[in-house]
Amino acid sequence: MAVDSPIFKEPVVTFGVLTDVQYADCDDRIASYDPSKTRFYRGSLNQVDEAFGHWEKPGSKVKFVLQLGDIIDGLNRFHGGSHLGLRRTLEHFEQHSSIPTFHTVGNHELYNFDRKELASLFYESVMKINVPLEMFHPVKPAEDYSTSTTPILYYKFSPVPNLKCISLDCFDVSVLGYNSQHPKYQEASKVLYSKHGHDVFDDWDCDGSLQGLDVRFQQMNGAIGEEQLAWLSQELKESDELGQKVIVFGHVSLHPDSSDWNCLLWNYEEVMKVFHQHNCVIAYFSGHTHASGYALDTHGISYIAFTGILETPPDTSAFATVSYYEDRLEVHGHGLERSYSIPLQGLKDAKGASSTVVENEVEQSPTTVKVEV
Ligand SMILES: [Zn+2]
Repeated sequence: MAVDSPIFKEPVVTFGVLTDVQYADCDDRIASYDPSKTRFYRGSLNQVDEAFGHWEKPGSKVKFVLQLGDIIDGLNRFHGGSHLGLRRTLEHFEQHSSIPTFHTVGNHELYNFDRKELASLFYESVMKINVPLEMFHPVKPAEDYSTSTTPILYYKFSPVPNLKCISLDCFDVSVLGYNSQHPKYQEASKVLYSKHGHDVFDDWDCDGSLQGLDVRFQQMNGAIGEEQLAWLSQELKESDELGQKVIVFGHVSLHPDSSDWNCLLWNYEEVMKVFHQHNCVIAYFSGHTHASGYALDTHGISYIAFTGILETPPDTSAFATVSYYEDRLEVHGHGLERSYSIPLQGLKDAKGASSTVVENEVEQSPTTVKVEV
C-alpha cells in the first residue's frame, strides 16, 4: 500500500445481498442441469431468515438489503400458486422492516406475472416496509397499474449522500412479462428469431446451435432498452457531478468473465460502454447464474455474480454482507458465498488493477454449460 493511502476504518455504509430465492411450495428435487445439486424450494425461505438473523444481530451495521431477482420460482404458476408464493416470500422480507429490501426483477418473476401486476405487488410491499417512495423514482407502478402504460421497473436510491444504487431492468427488451403484441416483445422476438432461426417460444430457452457468446440469446435473458440506457447515462452523469460513487445491480450478468455466457445480458457491451463514459461506477452485482463469479474490467469496475439461495443445503447458507468504504469495497461472503476486498483507488486508469483485488478462490473460466436458472 502506498504511504499516502488513507486507511478508512469505518464503512460509509454496510448492506446485505442475496439472490435467487426461487421459493415454491414444491418438494426438493435434483437440479436438471447438475445432478450434484438439489433445489430446496421450501427451504429457501429458511435461508432468507438465516440471512436476516445475521444482519439483525446486535452491533450489525446493515442498513438495507439488495435482492438480486428470481425471488420465487416459475413452478408456482403451474400450481396456481403465483400470488400465494410471492406473498409468502415477501413476508419474510417485510417482517424485517428496519432493514428494507430493494428488489430487482428476475426472469422467474416474469414467468409468474406480467409487468403491471408484478410492479403493483412489489409496490404494495414497499408501502408495507415504509421505504421513502422517492427512493423508487421513477417507478410509480401503482399510478400506472390501471392504465395501459407499461410500468418502469428500473430505479435508483441513495442510502447515503455519496453513494447511489441503481437497479436495472434486465428484461426491458425481452419476451417475458409482455403480451406478444407489445413493441418490446416484438423487438426481442426478432432478436431471438435471428439467432435461433425459428419462433418456437419454448425452444428459445436453450442453447440450440448457438456458439460462443451467442449462447446468451435465450428467452431467459434480455436487453436494456434505449430509454433505460439514456436514463442510466443521465443518472451516472448526475453522480459524476455530485462526486457520488455508484453501485449498479441487476439480475443478469454483464461481464463475460463473471458468469456462464448463457447468463449474460444480450447487450452487455452497450451497458458497459455507458459505465465507461463516466467515472462513478464502482461495481455491478448480479444473480441468475447461481454461482459466485468475479471479473474486473479495464476501467476498474468490479462485476460480482452471487451464489443462489435455492440450491444451498440447509446445513450452510449463501448471502453476503457488503461494506462500502471511501477507499475500498469489502464483500464478506457467508456459507457458500465468496469474499472479496476491492480497492477503489485509480478507477479511471485501472489497467492491471486485477492484481490488487483479493479474491477467495474465484474461478474465472467461463463455460457454456447449460444452466437451469
Ligand atoms: Zn434467473
